[in-house]
Amino acid sequence: MGESSRQIIDALDFARSDTDVYRVVSEALELVDDEHPSGLLITPTGSSHELHEVATNTATGSPGCPVTNTDDCLAIRRGQVVVTDSSEAINACPRLRGRPGGPCSAVCLPVAVQGHSVGVIHAIAEDRHPPGPQVVERLADLSRQVGARLGALRALESSRAEASTDALTGLPNRRSLESELQQMLDGRRAFVAVLADLDKFKSLNDTYGHEAGDRALQLFAKVMQDNVRGHDMVARVGGEEFVVVYPEMTVQGSIEAIERLRTGLASAVAVAAVKPFTCSFGVTHSSVGMTVAEILRVADAGLLRAKELGGDRVVYADQALAAEVFDQADEDPLGQ
Ligand code: GH3
Ligand code: MG
Ligand code: MG
Repeated sequence: MGESSRQIIDALDFARSDTDVYRVVSEALELVDDEHPSGLLITPTGSSHELHEVATNTATGSPGCPVTNTDDCLAIRRGQVVVTDSSEAINACPRLRGRPGGPCSAVCLPVAVQGHSVGVIHAIAEDRHPPGPQVVERLADLSRQVGARLGALRALESSRAEASTDALTGLPNRRSLESELQQMLDGRRAFVAVLADLDKFKSLNDTYGHEAGDRALQLFAKVMQDNVRGHDMVARVGGEEFVVVYPEMTVQGSIEAIERLRTGLASAVAVAAVKPFTCSFGVTHSSVGMTVAEILRVADAGLLRAKELGGDRVVYADQALAAEVFDQADEDPLGQ
């Protein structure tokens, strides 16, 4: 392995994001071959077939390939290196024709990420003088290294996403909610926190089965997502417990929003293929506590009071209510 190849591997290891990788590729292309225009075209995460030129040789610039879809690139489709002697040959890629520099030769090397060809490293040269085997070999090494690094970054990203997401509903889980709220407290941003707990959910499960319960949880998650806006956040923090966060909202405004959500749930339950259920809500403002746990504890007091009052309602809680609810619970630990 040559010195420049080792440097490229190190540089890619430093890359912490796709954008970092693309920057390294631009410089790496120059290290590999500073004579011929070359670049990397790839499908960014999330788009399945759309190709974008994300890196070009820092010395020689873009080869100017107009392809926009992976299906139109033979190297990607076959997952094989394609060397073209002349853009004018009958079997040449049509996208090599009509380039501003006139007829050309080319090499196209697929970039595979997690086993799928999702991009191409492409270089052009003088017509009938394609880049030689050594250059092709080094570009092939680069395409393997780039694919491996992008694959590692994507795997890391999806395991991070998995660790912060609830599998049943796709909502953020308790861990990501708590870290989000902590960041808001650190940034001295006020918010309203709402703790929601489905009513008599055990009995719905016991009567109609766990799958019916799961469908109800998914419906509830959807109703919540449909009823919040922009920077609001919803999370599943436990079995049938959820939290809604309204940043920079007044208590009055958030109570109205939650009332809309509660009636939205009633309408959604009426038309969906799920067994009917309701939900209770405890609402509080972040100013009631210094820590995430304190704030959620006060919201929990509102929730307990909502349950005591028969469920299917919204109760606002402050420290006074929390003291009352929890003192009562301390005196009467069995809740009898
Ligand atoms: P309350 O009105 O006081 O809130 O009563 P409840 O029955 O809702 O509360 P309880 O805490 O007694 O029971 C919660 C139930 O939620 C227990 C469990 O069967 C159900 N549950 C928790 N997680 C899941 C889940 O992931 N799927 C399903 N189907 N049920 C769940
Ligand atoms: Mg509960
Ligand atoms: Mg419940």
